[in-house]
Amino acid sequence: MDWGQLAQDRLREIAGHSVDQNGVTRFPFTAEHAAALPVIRDWMQDAGMDVHMDAAGTLIGRADGPAGAPTLLIGSHQDSVRNGGRYDGIMGIALGCLAVQRLRAEGTALPFAVEVLAFADEEGVRFPTALMGPRALAGTFDPAVLDMVDGDGVTLASALRDFGGAPDAVEGLARDPATILGYLEVHIEQGPVLEDMGVPLGVVTGICGIERNTVTFRGETGHAGTVPMVGRRDALVAAARLIDAVHTAARATPDLRATVGALTLRPNVVNAIPSAVDLTLEIRALNDQDRANFAGQAAAMIDEIAADTGVAATITRTYHQPAVPCDPDLMAALEAGARHACQTVPHLPSGATHDASAMADLCPMGMLFLRCRGGVSHTPDEYASAADMGAAIHALATSIAHLAARHGA
Ligand SMILES: [Zn+2]
Repeated sequence: MDWGQLAQDRLREIAGHSVDQNGVTRFPFTAEHAAALPVIRDWMQDAGMDVHMDAAGTLIGRADGPAGAPTLLIGSHQDSVRNGGRYDGIMGIALGCLAVQRLRAEGTALPFAVEVLAFADEEGVRFPTALMGPRALAGTFDPAVLDMVDGDGVTLASALRDFGGAPDAVEGLARDPATILGYLEVHIEQGPVLEDMGVPLGVVTGICGIERNTVTFRGETGHAGTVPMVGRRDALVAAARLIDAVHTAARATPDLRATVGALTLRPNVVNAIPSAVDLTLEIRALNDQDRANFAGQAAAMIDEIAADTGVAATITRTYHQPAVPCDPDLMAALEAGARHACQTVPHLPSGATHDASAMADLCPMGMLFLRCRGGVSHTPDEYASAADMGAAIHALATSIAHLAARHGA
């Protein structure tokens, strides 16, 4: 059986369930999502699992274990961004199903139950929230998000209800951590590290913490022709210095990313000195202390630049989520599995959030990254090879077998 080619064929098929054929556009609780469900159901049933959808719209395939045995969870998300690719999210569901099917084909009996979870909403494109499915399981779901509306004014609650979910029952989905062995997720890397190293798989060390800040610079406008250069208080000059300084300083800290991604400028006309700039400064790091130190460094740079350019400046943190480390035992199992499929198995952090971020509130979590061509994701050009996916299925199945051996099969 060419498991990798089977994965490729399946991902090609389910990519057809999309708003248009320019990549994949499949938002949660839409007609495209509904059309994808029977396909995923078939994948789960082919792996010998019983299938149901929970109140939050997560499609769950379950292979029972011995009575009273705990459950190993494997999952990822079915949704995409607008005109995204064939692999982000949905690949983790496909490979999870095929790993379970492969173990079954090999006659491996597991001393625990296995569930494959196809989450509805990881990308957060339709509603201004995400991760409802995993948060419900982890007991961290906030019912207030049910009142959020999409671009058409449809609430999350009504979209979920029309899809066959049960908004009022989402809070009741929380699992007992004592019954869960752990959560595994395979995802495309969404970066160039594995491709640059020439290896198909990597073990994720953790999911980076994120903080977002708004930085404001307030100077003074004036006529671009009549106000002399000396003595200007140009807010955009201050912003430009900060953008460059942050970019340079971030390169000095391993596994830290700092990005100025959005900027608003006033008066934003061709013949006036900019008086006001608001910009976003996002900082991500696997180590929360590194991130806090960098935020402090950025604040000091802002003060220095403000003094030097004669503008007033403030920095305000608007969002924050701590880093989530992967579980050492699950990392070891994934590494042992991956070594059956590849000679070199690097460890690397995840700079992006995943369903695993929320699942970590429930149970130990481990992730395997798979090389994607050019490191690109969230575009129709996203690509992973059948050979690499075959290696991932082999690795995941072997990892589960390792966990079974450790669990006393
Ligand atoms: Zn994803």
